[in-house]
Amino acid sequence: MQLIYPYSSNGSLLIGGVPALTLAETYGTPLYAYDAGLLRSAYHAYKTAFDAAGLNVAIHYACKANLNLSVMRVLQECGAGVDVTSGGELFRALKAGFTPAHVVFSGVGKTNAELEEAITLGIHQLNAESAEELERAAAIAARLNKHIAVCLRVNPDVDAKTHAKITTGKKDNKFGIPFEQVETLFATYKNHAQLKLVGLTTHIGSQLLDVAPYREAYTRLAAMVQSLRAAGHTVERLDIGGGLGIQYTPDQQAPNLNEYARIVHETVAGLGCSLAIEPGRSLVGNAGYLLTKVIDVKKTPAKNYLVVDAAMNDLARPAMYDAYHHIVPALKTSSASATVYDVVGPICETGDTFTKDRPLPVFERDDVAVLLSAGAYGAAMASTYNARPLVAEVLCNAGTHTLIRRRQTRDEMIALEV
Ligand SMILES: *Cc1c(COP(=O)(O)O)cnc(C)c1O
Repeated sequence: MQLIYPYSSNGSLLIGGVPALTLAETYGTPLYAYDAGLLRSAYHAYKTAFDAAGLNVAIHYACKANLNLSVMRVLQECGAGVDVTSGGELFRALKAGFTPAHVVFSGVGKTNAELEEAITLGIHQLNAESAEELERAAAIAARLNKHIAVCLRVNPDVDAKTHAKITTGKKDNKFGIPFEQVETLFATYKNHAQLKLVGLTTHIGSQLLDVAPYREAYTRLAAMVQSLRAAGHTVERLDIGGGLGIQYTPDQQAPNLNEYARIVHETVAGLGCSLAIEPGRSLVGNAGYLLTKVIDVKKTPAKNYLVVDAAMNDLARPAMYDAYHHIVPALKTSSASATVYDVVGPICETGDTFTKDRPLPVFERDDVAVLLSAGAYGAAMASTYNARPLVAEVLCNAGTHTLIRRRQTRDEMIALEV
């Protein structure tokens, strides 16, 4: 399937109706740009698919994928809840307009301070990752005399068939509680005054293009619910995780959401639990673009390098997960010829390479290149390695553009050092 990226009749790549070159000229490069319309349509695609399957599923945006407050707010205004994985994300979620009643707190190592903060606020749900964490949460809830609803994150031991670094549902991954322990924990906390085990959750990995592993995981989850109920426990919520993939390469196909909704319908809908999902990447990934300027076109006997002003500190995915990002010119030139390039950043590591041996349109010095599908785990994972400032971010919406994070200054970069 072709990747979709619109060009105007005069050859300008359009991001939310705004020419990419206008953005680069207005805000400088490197620059992250997001299309608010695509954020909304990604959210509504889930809603539509669930509606068509007759399902009522709450959508909690897993905000670690993109933490910009304005991006979070677009999804909040669509009606999303939020899934956070740290106290910092919880803070951001509240700043973005989510209320505690819309917050689910996931994550493998919540500190006592984070648990106390979440329980004090009265968040919707805590997703517990271990018996040990549950013990700490129960003690904190008792001490504060505050109620907290908890889902146990179960590890279904399912292979999500995605990149090893983002597979989370196998029994040798650090995530979740083994099935054998779940019933014991429900029994242990059955009469706890403050902590109430209300259901189960699972999340098997990220960037899944094949939905078959979900069927396997949800089938096991449903069996677990049945056996808990048979043992006299109440199970009223199922949080079925995130992880649906997006199209990064021209030959990939994103999972069909209708097929996904059908799996949800067939495996867990009949249990009568309230249902929620936690998508991250699939809500924001294809709505984001990284704009970068060509510093030099370096030619060696072996290679043509496009040395660009963005680097692995701005977008870590290629270096970290061998990820592919499609690269297109901000302005199409008339020359149809292609050259094979390595596209590299200025950082002093060979890993600072966006792509190798890729046929691309001819680029010249100062041309602007755009990396597509950069909305998820892009800006969110950025660092200041090589004393490179965090880049600016803009939100485009039907032909308008707004700065939503300015570029970090050099003084700000050293301001924490005493
Ligand atoms: C990261 C994460 C998600 C979101 O994953 P995506 O692949 O971005 O959809 C959902 N739930 C949990 C618990 C996570 O850790």
